[in-house]
Amino acid sequence: MAVMITDLCINCDSCVDECPATAIVGADDSPLENAEFTYVKPEKCIECVDSSVPKCFDACPTEGAIVWDMPYTAEFNTYYMDGNDNGTYKIRIHKKKGIFSPEAQPRPFRDTIDMNDRASHTPLDF
Ligand code: SF4
Ligand code: SF4
Repeated sequence: MAVMITDLCINCDSCVDECPATAIVGADDSPLENAEFTYVKPEKCIECVDSSVPKCFDACPTEGAIVWDMPYTAEFNTYYMDGNDNGTYKIRIHKKKGIFSPEAQPRPFRDTIDMNDRASHTPLDF
């Protein structure tokens, strides 16, 4: 990922159209079953590496609604695949290419974000 949206989200969907990677979908379009909140697809999020402030964070009016998860890279393949099994994520499966796992399709990530902050999903300021 990537960015993760927490249960503090008020589903305003202000972030959806701001994402340059079309990684964000409203709850009604979430791939998760019985989704209550706006959802970020970790297999698409590029962490806005070319922007000083992530676009979704910039658009969000709700403190703590947007936090960080681990980089979507091969090193965290098991983490994301476990998340897929426990319902945290639902990673896209391509008919021919298979699942868009971190190992198969790693995404760019912001190396300035501390791994401990990612692991604890600490809200960050920019
Ligand atoms: S960090 Fe950027 S690419 Fe990732 S979900 Fe937010 S706006 Fe989209
Ligand atoms: S902008 Fe913030 S509060 Fe609104 S849908 Fe996105 S994450 Fe939720």
